[in-house]
Amino acid sequence: MKHTPSRATIGTALSAVALGGLIVGSTAGVAAADNTAAPSSAELAAVVTEISGQTASTETANGMEIPMKAFEVSAPYGDNTGAHAGRGHDGVDLAGPMGAKIYSATPGKVIHAGDGGGYGNLVKVRTDDGHVILYGHLSKILVKKGDKVAAGDLIGKEGSTGHSTGPHLHFEVRNAKDKPIDPVKYLGLTQKELAEVGR
Ligand SMILES: [Zn+2]
Repeated sequence: MKHTPSRATIGTALSAVALGGLIVGSTAGVAAADNTAAPSSAELAAVVTEISGQTASTETANGMEIPMKAFEVSAPYGDNTGAHAGRGHDGVDLAGPMGAKIYSATPGKVIHAGDGGGYGNLVKVRTDDGHVILYGHLSKILVKKGDKVAAGDLIGKEGSTGHSTGPHLHFEVRNAKDKPIDPVKYLGLTQKELAEVGR
């Protein structure tokens, strides 16, 4: 089932935040599936920003988690400049403080946890619907092959291993045909919203 919180639920989440002291759980709003119009992704991003300080990780409109809490987008998906010139960029780079916690964006099964060549220390998680999510350049890997993870589970720490010029997470999503797709769209966000959430 697709997790699309209703407008009413968003209002509730925001009031709860406004009241303070109330923890808005990461599942807030998921149960409410009514017939009201779906909120815009901008509205959802606002809620994500509001509640992110109170939860262990940050849920997106698609019910996934943004894999890092405070970051700058240092290279977008499809980037064809700098280190990515001539080959294009298969993921999005999120740069935060060295050692920042990296959370699984989705539930799934760890199918790789170790050396990934140019990806450095790499975790790959396969989702139930066959997508593979890659977390590259980690300084530390905190899961092992075969582990089941939930969205928001801590899986590693940000680093600069492999082909990397500074601490960042390379976050990549491949579809069931092993083709890279836009990881930001996969999270249910726009580039701008992702940038705002990272602040
Ligand atoms: Zn990258």
